[in-house]
Amino acid sequence: MHLILMGPQGSGKGTQAGRLAPRLGLVLVATGDLFRRAIAAETALGHQIKAAYDRGELISDDLTVALVEEKLDELSAERALGTGVAGALYDGFPRTRLQADALDAALTRREEAISTVIQIDVPRQTLVNRLAGRRVCTICDTVYHIEFNPPREEGVCDRCGGEVRQRPDDTPAAIEKRLDLYELETAPLLAHYRDRGLMAVVNGVQAIDLVTRDIERAVKGTATTR
Ligand SMILES: [Zn+2]
Repeated sequence: MHLILMGPQGSGKGTQAGRLAPRLGLVLVATGDLFRRAIAAETALGHQIKAAYDRGELISDDLTVALVEEKLDELSAERALGTGVAGALYDGFPRTRLQADALDAALTRREEAISTVIQIDVPRQTLVNRLAGRRVCTICDTVYHIEFNPPREEGVCDRCGGEVRQRPDDTPAAIEKRLDLYELETAPLLAHYRDRGLMAVVNGVQAIDLVTRDIERAVKGTATTR
């Protein structure tokens, strides 16, 4: 099984990916983690990623795809050992049509294919409210929300007593800009997967448990009808 989770910042995608991977027996392929791990391990790809970061550039499609392919090779090796891993869950990838085509090709070479693409749907205004209310500890990175999850004492981290404040890129204007970019980039991807009958849309404006339940149902639904 190869499951792709799609959703903008603030949709709860990362949280759901972390919950679903163990429940479905899938290896989590989160490109942010892969980047950090490659840099820490000082691999050849890690050096190239670090250089791109240092130049303030986005990580290119080629580099991203190369890292995901490395992960797919690891997955194949694990499955050959009979570890019972059912496949992969992709979080933050593919992000562009080029990456989507590369993933299709990589899976085809391994005689596998994408099973389901889940779109976590959250109205734009809800996303802006969630992101604009976000506050982060400057010491330990614990994330709070002024409305839904405030620290016990305003501006002070419950965990470490550090200063809790808004990130400079969480202003409404910056948030709107990131959401615009996300929509622009992913609209062609969503159409690509919808046309192939792989897409299921899940309501992201409900309790975390219910979102997880709906995604599991959608995954099972598409798996049995095909
Ligand atoms: Zn803290």
